[in-house]
Amino acid sequence: MSGDRRHFGAIPGLIVGAIFDSRRQLSAAGVHRPTMAGISGVPHEGADSIVLSGGYEDDEDLGDVIIYTGHGGNDPESKRQVADLPLTRGNLALARSCAEGLPIRVVRGARLDSPYRPPVGYRYDGLYRVESYWAETGRSGHLVWRFRLVRDDPVAPAPPTLTTGQPPQAEPGAPAPRQEVTTQRLVRSTRVAQRVKELHDHRCQVCGVRLETAAGPYAEGAHVRPLGRPHDGPDREDNVLCLCPNHHALLDLGGITITDDLTIMDTAAGIPLGQLRLVPGHRLDPAHLAYHRGLFSGTKA
Ligand SMILES: [Zn+2]
Repeated sequence: MSGDRRHFGAIPGLIVGAIFDSRRQLSAAGVHRPTMAGISGVPHEGADSIVLSGGYEDDEDLGDVIIYTGHGGNDPESKRQVADLPLTRGNLALARSCAEGLPIRVVRGARLDSPYRPPVGYRYDGLYRVESYWAETGRSGHLVWRFRLVRDDPVAPAPPTLTTGQPPQAEPGAPAPRQEVTTQRLVRSTRVAQRVKELHDHRCQVCGVRLETAAGPYAEGAHVRPLGRPHDGPDREDNVLCLCPNHHALLDLGGITITDDLTIMDTAAGIPLGQLRLVPGHRLDPAHLAYHRGLFSGTKA
């Protein structure tokens, strides 16, 4: 099987809820190829599936939302974490899937410490997306990478924004070929974000660009400390930046962080990129900037 191309998304004929006796069966069916590793994927391609089977004390399973702890740093004897987890290998593959909006097949095992575990064996629970990732100190006291996986609901799909592969070459009269569509980061807007964008006249606080579209100026309201579990950032003006889509992506994915004196830093290189632009009437809470820096503190080599 090793020569096969990695397959992302649903597998034809595979029903959500299907139960498999063993990791070997899961592998043979193409649901999750590795028979030992919890993450299937490599950094340059992304991750296509994970198996949740109770390895990590830091995982949180809420059904439609999973806070998943990346692999690595484990003592093979005690199974306890003994070192910081780097953003490499499977962890980096999951981060890649987040950036590219790739779907992840999720399998739960019967040994999982969760109300959503199957009664026996391993159950295929459908497709999830990696909504965000960040570093934090786990219960063992070491740095761990965590991934917020959200079930991709086919009944209420998010707007598709990316088409992979070549544009279809349809023959006249032929039915349109099916395309693989993935969903990238959702951009949520709130009334508060709207207000911040107006204060900045839709000008990016990092690069100063104001995008003009047929529908008027376009910018995105970016929450510094993310909304929702487990970060629970507030939807307040002192936690929102007005950014262009490029700089919003860099902020959310940890490419840039902001110091207390509002210097924009290239996170991985540790180089200052400039000062954040401010306007009268919009101040930021340094505690939220510090929280955001903490999310990507493990990015540096
Ligand atoms: Zn910008």
